[in-house]
Amino acid sequence: MAAKKKIKMTVPLVEMDGDEMTRVIWKMIKEINILPYIDLKTEYYDLGMENRDRTEDQVTKDSAYATKKYGVAVKCATITPNAQRVEEFGLKKMWKSPNATIRSILDGTVFRAPIIVEGVKPLVAQWKKPIVIARHAYGDIYAAVDAVVEKGSSAKIVITNPDGSVTELPVKEFDKSAGVVMGMHNFDTSIESFARACFEYALSTKMDIWFSAKDTISKKYDHHFKDIFEEIYNKEYTEKFREAGITYFYTLVDDAIARVMKSEGGMIWACKNYDGDVFSDMIATAFGSLAMMTSVLVSPQGYYEYEAAHGTVQRHYYKYLRGEQTSTNSVATIFAWTGALKKRGELDGNTALVDFSEKLEKATVSTIESGYMTGDLALISKLTDIHKCESLEFIKAIRKNLEAML
Ligand code: NAP
Ligand code: MG
Repeated sequence: MAAKKKIKMTVPLVEMDGDEMTRVIWKMIKEINILPYIDLKTEYYDLGMENRDRTEDQVTKDSAYATKKYGVAVKCATITPNAQRVEEFGLKKMWKSPNATIRSILDGTVFRAPIIVEGVKPLVAQWKKPIVIARHAYGDIYAAVDAVVEKGSSAKIVITNPDGSVTELPVKEFDKSAGVVMGMHNFDTSIESFARACFEYALSTKMDIWFSAKDTISKKYDHHFKDIFEEIYNKEYTEKFREAGITYFYTLVDDAIARVMKSEGGMIWACKNYDGDVFSDMIATAFGSLAMMTSVLVSPQGYYEYEAAHGTVQRHYYKYLRGEQTSTNSVATIFAWTGALKKRGELDGNTALVDFSEKLEKATVSTIESGYMTGDLALISKLTDIHKCESLEFIKAIRKNLEAML
């Protein structure tokens, strides 16, 4: 093995390290399944909680700007601090979600697709094909200002128009109770690029695309999304979709859920930011496990950030710290690496890198299909001969299959 020539890289990947159990498996994946084969070039950013606090979160912003410079990033799951985390880490501040910070710098759409393996049946019996979630990754509550207000407060939205005139929208009089308020926004440019990213992705995968929002209740905000999608579709995509034999339609978000549950799958479901956040977790879980989902942020300028869709798997990390065995599924994190390496390879004309990434994906899937899997899958797999692996053992089992393929 040691004699084998490693694959060279010309342009570095932006590597965003993270927290807890995913930080542990991040290192294992690199050491066992990547570094022995690739002369890995990365520009490393430590987005671990301590370093974000130390750098006043500058490191998160720097990593996003580096992604704009190089084009491709791979990100480990990170803690989004809440009050409990502030205390746990003694943080200077309740820093923002790193994903929200990165997405607000890169803009774009997050595509999440389940990784389907033999033996793991979706919880929804009639789902036969993957359901891809396209999540608008900019704005709404992720870039909102909000406040807890006292009883007796008065809230309004004040818009200063370009001509200097002022439009005031009363939100509420808090005369009878204290409460909460929020102001959020989005940009037409971002919604337009969201729509185009979705239509382009649909064309490239030959899948139907649905877009859902709540335009009946949100008559200006959500309705505006619907209108922009419709206008771009009518102007730029009707003909292309007809030729490709695929369809686009808009439907209310509640209707979309009902239809998705009754469908066979095989479509892209475009969602507003919050809907995409929560529905992608639902879809991933229903397809087997949160760890069996790929996730990539595609910016309108063509920057790519690959990540796992799940969190830092804190409960497993505490077990790991106590020296206990863990069975954490590393598939989504491996696919974040392979997705990023493959894209880097495509951009740089590096076929060896593309080829390696595809093999590592195949080796991962075939490891599971041969019966070697982590606890989350062992619980639900219909295979008869199952060996439940601990975290490191699973990554090593993949290495063995990979070796056989190379
Ligand atoms: P989580 O880390 O996704 O874990 C929730 C549960 O799902 C786990 O306890 C585990 O169930 C199961 N699970 C998730 N990933 C798994 C994997 N790879 N292998 C096996 N089981 C897996 O979500 P969370 O506990 O709500 O959040 C933990 C931290 O992650 C939070 O600080 C949150 O801010 C952060 N987070 C980050 C991201 C991101 O960076 N993209 C996304 C979401 C959350 P069992 O314990 O039952 O085994
Ligand atoms: Mg989520």
